[in-house]
Amino acid sequence: ELAEFEEGEPGAGAGEAGDSGPLPVVAVVGRPNVGKSTLVNRIIGRREAVVEDVPGVTRDRVTYEASWRGRSFTLVDTGGWDPQATGMALRIAEQAQIAVELADVILFVVDATVGVTDADEAVAQVLRRSGKPVVLAANKVDDQRMELEASALWSLGIGEPMPVSALHGRSSGDLLDAVLDALPEAPPQRFGAERGPRRVALVGRPNVGKSSLLNKLAGEERVLVDPMAGTTRDPVDELIELGGKTWRFVDTAGIRRRDRELKGADFYASMRTRAALERSEVAVVLIDASEVLTEQDLRIISLVIESGRCMVVAFNKWDLVDEDRRYYLEKEIDRQLVRVPWALRVNISAKTGRHVDRLVPAIERALESWSTRVPTARLNAFLTELVRATPPPVRGGKQPKILFATQAAVEPPKFVLFTSGFLEETYRRFIERRIREEFGFAGSPVFVTMKIRE
Ligand code: GDP
Ligand code: GDP
Repeated sequence: ELAEFEEGEPGAGAGEAGDSGPLPVVAVVGRPNVGKSTLVNRIIGRREAVVEDVPGVTRDRVTYEASWRGRSFTLVDTGGWDPQATGMALRIAEQAQIAVELADVILFVVDATVGVTDADEAVAQVLRRSGKPVVLAANKVDDQRMELEASALWSLGIGEPMPVSALHGRSSGDLLDAVLDALPEAPPQRFGAERGPRRVALVGRPNVGKSSLLNKLAGEERVLVDPMAGTTRDPVDELIELGGKTWRFVDTAGIRRRDRELKGADFYASMRTRAALERSEVAVVLIDASEVLTEQDLRIISLVIESGRCMVVAFNKWDLVDEDRRYYLEKEIDRQLVRVPWALRVNISAKTGRHVDRLVPAIERALESWSTRVPTARLNAFLTELVRATPPPVRGGKQPKILFATQAAVEPPKFVLFTSGFLEETYRRFIERRIREEFGFAGSPVFVTMKIRE
């Protein structure tokens, strides 16, 4: 069950810098039907992405792990949206803007058989202003005769168009080489205390009180920003001083821009949340305690789980919850958040300021857990004892053994068990639970994987 965060809880121990920094992010942008998903399929080897024959089908999954010449990166497909939607130009600009904010490199796809359209122009404009590296793919160049068509795309002012055929794979290797060249040398400097303020993503569905909380934390009233103004050079993040430290709240521009006013912008809301998570270390998920937990709340929690970030769940508008309902509400919340029993929880009111001061200690605790490294010797001593007391279930007449274990990564913590046989899922979960109890990973996800040695 969920433990309400308590101040003064013992810390989880000093963390070390992450050894598996975040992967660089490559975002694929372009208007509908230029072949973005086909290209994504091509890059990831058709393992996961799905090309829809029906235009406008919203694809749920948009981020994939890809690699080329031994270099891994996160590929973001911004494709799944409705070309028939109203306010197309705005949406396209929004999409490009989100891509700019979340990506290290933008892969801009244009259909060379069609040439430059107004929508392509609109995207190019946002990209040019961003200063981010852009690789321009002139797609659907299925044979050499088409290459002339591709050169017409110089007019976008993005640089050299690279003729490719996503469908047939023609020149896709050259394109990926160009993407690799454009990637930042070292992993982007997003993590660690000495590398600037810790990054917080404040996420939650519309109206839960995100901007109210920001205002409360920053101690001032804010002016709302015109939706389009944000597409140029607004500061995206905000530095806020809390508990004697400076914190970087990422994508506050997005929170203030009020995407909810874009009707049916669910996909964008989700893209934005992903983008914010991508750039953050810790997520504060805001939930409206005065209403029942919705699908959308749960989806946002899923996005956080998927992102591997540590998490604080803040139940806002607690001032609206009747005294006598509180107990039942807590029970109900426990039930609904069963997937994330490790999340730290605070009940706050952005309006009255109730318990808002508990947020920072919870965030700090979660971050500490997230970077905790268990020394290998301690881990193995602990597991040896654990396995002696509760051995893994026998499988096919054999008793699997844990030969050795190590924590392979921090931020998030990942443990690898080297075993002599298959460990049942339930047993791995049991180990995860016991590792949590022993080493204190409150507020952080913990991953336990197994490598079987024959
Ligand atoms: P998205 O909306 O940008 O993601 O575009 P899709 O990947 O769904 O592709 C739109 C259509 O263009 C599909 O029918 C694809 O088969 C087709 N297509 C994509 N890439 C190529 C290509 O390189 N050559 C040709 N001839 N068709 C392509
Ligand atoms: P956002 O869309 O998540 O940024 O939500 P807002 O900050 O705009 O808040 C939505 C509405 O909820 C506004 O009318 C706020 O005044 C109200 N609200 C926000 N926090 C609280 C709270 O703690 N208590 C109460 N009673 N209302 C709140």
